[in-house]
Amino acid sequence: MEKFDYIICGGGASGLLLSNAFISDKFFNDKKILIIEKESKTSNDKTFGFWNDKESVLDEMVFKEWEFAEFKDSNSYNTFLLNPYKYKMIKSNQFYSHIGNKILKAANFKYLNSNINEIDEINNIVKTDDGKFSSSIIFSSIYNEVTFKKYPLLKQHFIGWTIETKSETFDDNKITFMDFSVDQKDEIRFMYILPFSKNKALVEYTLFSKELITDDEYEKEIKSYLKENNIQGYTIKEKEKGMIPMTCYPFFENNTDTYFQIGTAGGWSKPSTGYTIKNSIKKIDVIIESLKQSKPLSKIRFKNRFWYYDLLFLDVLIASKGRGSQVFSDLFKNNDPIKIFKFLDENTSVVEELSIFLSVDIKTFVRSLLKRILNFSI
Ligand SMILES: Cc1cc2nc3c(=O)[nH]c(=O)nc-3n(C[C@H](O)[C@H](O)[C@H](O)COP(=O)(O)OP(=O)(O)OC[C@H]3O[C@@H](n4cnc5c(N)ncnc54)[C@H](O)[C@@H]3O)c2cc1C
Repeated sequence: MEKFDYIICGGGASGLLLSNAFISDKFFNDKKILIIEKESKTSNDKTFGFWNDKESVLDEMVFKEWEFAEFKDSNSYNTFLLNPYKYKMIKSNQFYSHIGNKILKAANFKYLNSNINEIDEINNIVKTDDGKFSSSIIFSSIYNEVTFKKYPLLKQHFIGWTIETKSETFDDNKITFMDFSVDQKDEIRFMYILPFSKNKALVEYTLFSKELITDDEYEKEIKSYLKENNIQGYTIKEKEKGMIPMTCYPFFENNTDTYFQIGTAGGWSKPSTGYTIKNSIKKIDVIIESLKQSKPLSKIRFKNRFWYYDLLFLDVLIASKGRGSQVFSDLFKNNDPIKIFKFLDENTSVVEELSIFLSVDIKTFVRSLLKRILNFSI
């Protein structure tokens, strides 16, 4: 059986970003690394959006960036300059090929296109359709759904159409971060729009809910939204569909010194927003430092005060029954939106956080907090 220092299971976003980090640091040049991915990873199946105020490794792959954003609900809209942030977007096919090419060139890496049938965490063996491989450390991005009463699971799910219009229709320097003017249907539903040019944009119908809906339902809503906004004569160039789990389940508790979950499977999707890609960079930095300093990986704990905020926020959203959009409206109307982005980035001070909590209907949050305390379930 061929033996490796590290095996990375899954060559999606986190597996590739971790590979990229290994390739970029000469400390790992003498490590023998295997990455195993079952898909061909050539299609543009995901549009990775994120905001950033500094350069990161992701910038090598950015397709477009914006300086302005808009938040809307049925009563109002607010356009704001994102400075010091920029909202950036990466096409997944470019992301896969950019890092994939680096892997192919790296002498210490092997890329295996195969299906993983089993990860034997006790004996450190990965069993695939094309053989078994052993490794000192296994990193896995293969997500298995988890549900625990203590950590409820909300799903962020969506279908997005990339449409092209004949005439100039979009402001290509402004994204629509959230447009809650759509019918909430007793849930949390909004449109997210990324204009790539004046006549091309991704228009995505997004829900935060426990159950998924049919493709027809998402697409009917996109169609009627475009009609209501007088966007006509368009052709659909691409479609993307996805689901991101929103949960505070402490995935890191399953990690050992030799088996480590990464990406969404490791709980790297921010529970309150689903944003993952930039989070992955931060988490990978922690892994790299631990490996370089020979610190045990099991000691890595991704839990801070923001984890508690996310826990409470999810409770509030789940209990909101169609009024969840009000929480977002309060956040964006009663605060400088930049402070909200900073908060979601987990970079605010406690004083800033207090001012944010006081800007929303605090009663709902206190109610959720009391419920958690009474159930001893924090
Ligand atoms: C459509 C979509 C759009 C998104 N947009 C954003 C965004 O704008 N911003 C953001 O921050 N986040 C976004 N996310 C969330 C998150 O960034 C992505 O889901 C990201 O791909 C998560 O990375 P990952 O490595 O955890 O999972 P993945 O990228 O899904 O990687 C896991 C890999 O494991 C492979 N795999 C699974 N099972 C096996 C097996 N048995 N054998 C071998 N290989 C296997 C899969 O093929 C996959 O390639 C989006 C998610 C989706 C679904």
